[in-house]
Amino acid sequence: MGAVETAKLIGPRATTSLVSRASPLASTLQQLATLKQLPIPDFKAPLKPAGIDIFQINVGKLCNMTCRHCHVDAGPDRTEEMMSRETVDQCLAALDRTAAGVVDITGGAPELNPHFRYLVDQCVARGKHVMDRCNLTVLLTGPCRDLPGWFAERGVEVVCSLPHYRKRNTDLQRGDGTFEKSIEALTRLNAVGYGKSDPRLRLTLMHNPVGAFLAGDRASMEKEWKAGLKANHGVSFDALIALNNMPISRFLEWLEISGNLLAYMELLVNAYNPATVAGLMCRNMHIMRMAAPRIFATSTRRSFSPARSSPRATASAAPPALAAPAVARLPRACLGG
Ligand code: SF4
Repeated sequence: MGAVETAKLIGPRATTSLVSRASPLASTLQQLATLKQLPIPDFKAPLKPAGIDIFQINVGKLCNMTCRHCHVDAGPDRTEEMMSRETVDQCLAALDRTAAGVVDITGGAPELNPHFRYLVDQCVARGKHVMDRCNLTVLLTGPCRDLPGWFAERGVEVVCSLPHYRKRNTDLQRGDGTFEKSIEALTRLNAVGYGKSDPRLRLTLMHNPVGAFLAGDRASMEKEWKAGLKANHGVSFDALIALNNMPISRFLEWLEISGNLLAYMELLVNAYNPATVAGLMCRNMHIMRMAAPRIFATSTRRSFSPARSSPRATASAAPPALAAPAVARLPRACLGG
């Protein structure tokens, strides 16, 4: 890592949730207002929807960590936003109205939701490919220690966030000791067969930059990470995803505090690559998440709310299929990178 990148690491350290600090940026509207006041041109070209291939369910904001860059302001204090069993069942009913073959379960740390295993089992029973968005360290917490083997029995794909394959970069963003715990979790996943090119036991790592810059070339990073993690820690994985940080929530807070906000937004705009739109996340995804007292869907023209549906209507009539996403109004930064 160069001196410039190292200097940028001074700010984004593990923190506490915006909600717990009663920060104005805990409000989505305040985040939008903050971005709107920047002298950055808006993208006029609308994104066109694709079909619904992936059904993503966010089961809550509870997490065992409080990473500085967190886009959903998750943390140990976020116990209120927890998807109930009733809502999980409503999500499953909604899933049955789509042809999506993949269910992508996220949070917070989704494994901490008490209905997580029920949800996974229900999706597997429906023949869906299930992806768990895992922060790795949660696999060392009491109720989750058996999850590697439990996942393997069901063929769940584990997509694990790990900011960097080096300790310093990971611990700066996620807190001291995170890297060692992550390596321990990866070792346990490897021990039950994950990360060894078995298509049924796929282990994907996800990198995001630790600072106000964009991710490097994914393919060359994947090579470097595979070699580094194998040589230094004896662990293996199947594929690397490289994500850029969204200028929202806690990462937006850090960008503001560190004086990097405008430069980062300009970086995103200048790096816009139209060729990435075809593979852009969310164009082929139906997203369901908690927004008490009801769940709601994004990425669709027609919002769907099972909580508001009449149980009789749901049970007696063939429900309409969920619409494919309409013009997705994603934050401008989604277009970058
Ligand atoms: S592990 Fe993920 S969900 Fe939890 S605080 Fe970190 S970024 Fe947020």
